[in-house]
Amino acid sequence: MDYFPIFLKLSKQPCLVVGAGSCAARKIELLSRAGADITVVAHDISTQVAAMQVSHHLTIYRKYFEPTDLADFKLVISATNDKLVNENVSKCANKAGIWVNVVDSPTLCNFIFPAIVDRAPLTIAISSGGVSPVLARLLRQKIETVVPPTYGMLAKLAEKFRDTVKKQITIPSNRRIFWENVLQGRVAELIFSGQNESAERELTYAISQIESEINNKNNGEVYLIGAGPGAADLLTFRALRLMQQADVIVYDRLVSAEILDLARRDSDRIYVGKERSQHVLPQEEINELLVKLAKEGKRVARVKGGDPFIFGRGGEEIETLMEQNIAFQVVPGITAANGCASYAGIPLTHRDYAQSCVFVTGHLKDDSINLNWTQLAVPNQTIVIYMGLIGLEKICDALISHGSDPSLPIAVVEKGTTAQQRVIIGTLSTLPNKIRHETLKAPTLIIIGNVVSLHEKLNWFGHK
Ligand code: SAH
Repeated sequence: MDYFPIFLKLSKQPCLVVGAGSCAARKIELLSRAGADITVVAHDISTQVAAMQVSHHLTIYRKYFEPTDLADFKLVISATNDKLVNENVSKCANKAGIWVNVVDSPTLCNFIFPAIVDRAPLTIAISSGGVSPVLARLLRQKIETVVPPTYGMLAKLAEKFRDTVKKQITIPSNRRIFWENVLQGRVAELIFSGQNESAERELTYAISQIESEINNKNNGEVYLIGAGPGAADLLTFRALRLMQQADVIVYDRLVSAEILDLARRDSDRIYVGKERSQHVLPQEEINELLVKLAKEGKRVARVKGGDPFIFGRGGEEIETLMEQNIAFQVVPGITAANGCASYAGIPLTHRDYAQSCVFVTGHLKDDSINLNWTQLAVPNQTIVIYMGLIGLEKICDALISHGSDPSLPIAVVEKGTTAQQRVIIGTLSTLPNKIRHETLKAPTLIIIGNVVSLHEKLNWFGHK
C-alpha cells in the first residue's frame, strides 16, 4: 500500500488553497463539502472562485504566495499553473509539516485525493495510488451504479436508531445480525424507494420483534455451502455473501486458502479435515459441532469442496440440523466432475460419444470397490469416479472383465480448475501403469469414456 487511506475531519479546520482557477475551484468545492474553513491565496482570482466567496465562506487574499502564508494551516492545496509556485508551496509545506497536495503533480504531494462516491454520511473513496486516476474513476462509476444516492438516507436512519438499538439489544453479535437484516432487508428497500416514514415504522417494529425473538430462542443458523472444485472465482454469489456474514467457518481439506480468504475477516475458522481415511473429526462429531455452534446463536458457514450433496455427506449434516430444529440453507456448488471436465476440455456428454454420465465413488472399503460393474461397463456412457485413485487398477480391471474395451480412454485430473491442474490420459489397459511413474497429489478425479478423446482437441486450460 503506497498510500494509507484515512478520512479527515476537516470541519472548521483552516485549509489553504493557493491558486484560484477552475482546478482550485473544484478543490474548494470538495473542501467546502467537508466543512473546511478555506482561505485562498492567488494573484489572479477567476470569476468562478470570486463567485464562491460568499456561498463557500472563503477568505481571499489577492497576492503572490509567500511561505509565511502557511502559518496555522492544517492542509494546503496548490492549484496554480505555475510550476515554480507549486514546487515552492510543496517544499515550504513539507518543511512546516503541513499536509500538501499539488494538483496533477504526485511527486510534490504527501497526500492525494481519491475518487469519491459521496453518499454522506456514507463516503466511499477509491485510489489507484496516483498510478491511474482513470481506472479509479471507472471504478467509481461502477460503484455509483450499485450504491444508489438513497444509501445516505439509510445511513442516517441507522444513525437515528443506533442508541435505541444499542440499549435494547445488548449482545453485540445479536446487534450486528439485527443491523445486517435491517440494512439489506425490507427497511432498506423502503428507503431506496423513497418511503422514509414507512421505513422508520418498519424499523421501530423490527426492534420490538427482534428483542423478543432474541430473548426467546437462539438465532443461530447453518449455511451448508458448496465452495466449488478449487478456483475461488467458481464460488456462487450466494456462497460468497453467506461466507461474508458468517461468524464461524467450518471447513474441509478441499477448501483452499484462497477461498477462505474471501470469508469474513474476523470469523472463527474451524478445520474439520477429511483426508482420506484420516478425518480430523469423525462425521458424527462434525454434525454435533454444527448443532452446538448454531445453538450458541452463531451463524455457521459449513464450507465443503465441490457440491455438498455430491459425495459430501451434506445430507447427513442437515439431517442432524433438522432433528435439532436448527435453521439452515444449502448452497449448491460446482462439483468436481463439472469443474474438472470443463477445465480439461472433456465434455461429459456428447452427441457422438456419450448419452449418459454417472458419478460414482471409487472409495475402497475392506480393500474392494463395491460398484455395479455391469451397469458401468455399457457403451456411450461417461463414468466419473470420485476418490478413485488408490483403486484405479482394480477399477480398470473390473470394467474390462465386465466387457469394456481395454482401449477405452481414461483421464486422471489432478487438482482440477486450479493453477496446478494436470491431466493424464491413457486407456483402461495403459493408465494404471502410466500413473505409477507419476507423483500425483490429491485431489484427483477420474473420467472414463470416449469423450476423453476430445481432450486433445478441446484442451484450453494450461495445455498440459
Ligand atoms: N463434494 C465434492 C466431492 C468430495 S469427495 C464435490 O462435489 O466435488 C472428494 C473427491 O472429490 C476427491 O477425492 C476427488 O476425487 C474429487 N475432487 C474434488 N475436488 C477436486 C479437484 N479440484 N480436482 C480433482 N478432483 C477433485
